[in-house]
Amino acid sequence: VTMDVDVVVIGAGGAGFSAAIEAKEAGRSVVIIEKMPLVGGNTIKGSGGMNASETQYQKRAGKIYTNDTFYQYTMDGGHGLNDPALLRFFVENSSGAVDWLTGLGMNYTFGNYTTAQRSHAVNNGGPVGIELMRVLTARAEQDGIQVMLETKAEEIIMKNGQAAGVRCVGKTGNTVTVNAKAVVLATGGFGANEDLFTKYRPELKGYVTTNHPGATGDGIVMAEAVGADLTDIEQIQIHPTVEQSTSELVSESLRRDGSILINADGNRFYNEILTRDKVSAAVLAQPDSYAYIVFDQNVRNIRSIINTYVSRGFVLEDPTLEGLAAKMGVNPANFRKSVETWNAAAKAGAGDPFGRDEAMENPLVNPPYYAIKIAPGVHHTMGGVKINTNTEVISTRGAPIPGFYAAGEVTGGIHGGNRIGGNAITDIVVFGRVAGQQSAKFAGAR
Ligand code: ADP
Repeated sequence: VTMDVDVVVIGAGGAGFSAAIEAKEAGRSVVIIEKMPLVGGNTIKGSGGMNASETQYQKRAGKIYTNDTFYQYTMDGGHGLNDPALLRFFVENSSGAVDWLTGLGMNYTFGNYTTAQRSHAVNNGGPVGIELMRVLTARAEQDGIQVMLETKAEEIIMKNGQAAGVRCVGKTGNTVTVNAKAVVLATGGFGANEDLFTKYRPELKGYVTTNHPGATGDGIVMAEAVGADLTDIEQIQIHPTVEQSTSELVSESLRRDGSILINADGNRFYNEILTRDKVSAAVLAQPDSYAYIVFDQNVRNIRSIINTYVSRGFVLEDPTLEGLAAKMGVNPANFRKSVETWNAAAKAGAGDPFGRDEAMENPLVNPPYYAIKIAPGVHHTMGGVKINTNTEVISTRGAPIPGFYAAGEVTGGIHGGNRIGGNAITDIVVFGRVAGQQSAKFAGAR
């Protein structure tokens, strides 16, 4: 099969759909190539909220989280490795992404928090990835964008030094050649490719992954083959709270809603709302390198995703703290003392022995009590293809490769050495949209 389009988008996750919609609405013909039998990639697994600053929702609530605060928090969380220009662009376009998605029908339910917050919840604390893919796929369908499933991109076609399409393998092993005036790479990360992540970080051998099976880094390999530069490629995030038997990620939002972490001795041991790298290291330093995330009925009421965890069978539940301690196999006296000490600090809004000074709204006082056993797992690959704020792919010689654009987890630089929870959804929409606009412009000029 041979096809001719203006813009070919590789990857049907949040970045790819955002790009395709923008390119199509700029008047170009567009096709999305997807190797899996279904769309959504890692995006659809996004379980928390979407971070943004100076948004219409914050303004309406009178609790503005500023662009500068967002920038500094992300830069500090990323160990200062973040590309300053990409990060500034990301922050300043975050509220525009929220506006755009609001226009597409995204059901934001900005929370009733006492402090200014960056996270925008959807569907009363439901998973953000499902809601994002719902609005993007609906719009793409309305726009008449074709998605070719079970079609695996293998090679970027280059002509006269410009990206000019993609060679793929179809469902039956047939070759599918898509000739295009511009190419958008949106293939996601490589958290499900143990060979690749241990190539860069050998000590992660044997780690479970929260990623969908298609997150194998094909885009990194394809881009490198046509001269793209990579950045921060060894920066791989482990997420602290992964249920190990199912590899299911337990959303960070549970901690932001008031959950605490308890070790095998029944003791609390760390400030739960610090960044993923720090909390993961703290869990790994505990006896047998695991912990329980503990919460109460109030947290369950806020986070509907907990119903999913319950249905998967890994949530311990008991009407009393002692009963829950018995099910967890931890010392009940230590456990009660940990919860009561935390509750006192949470109610006072200060004085936590581990220095927690945020997400204290919900002391754990409303039974039943719940616990999920967790340990770290590979979650996000911060590094990837090097881009600029126009999402042009930068070559190892330092110049953009004409006609070649990339967005989303396949790229590197935005998150530096550690991604902030809730920033990926914003990243893929902000830069996915730019990739669509820029590729449309490039294709229109050819
Ligand atoms: P992002 O969050 O950056 O949008 P996702 O993981 O959500 O990334 O989506 C990336 C999509 O790209 C996934 O659906 C994945 O299956 C798809 N993909 C990965 N490699 C290829 C490939 N070689 N050909 C086609 N699609 C691919």
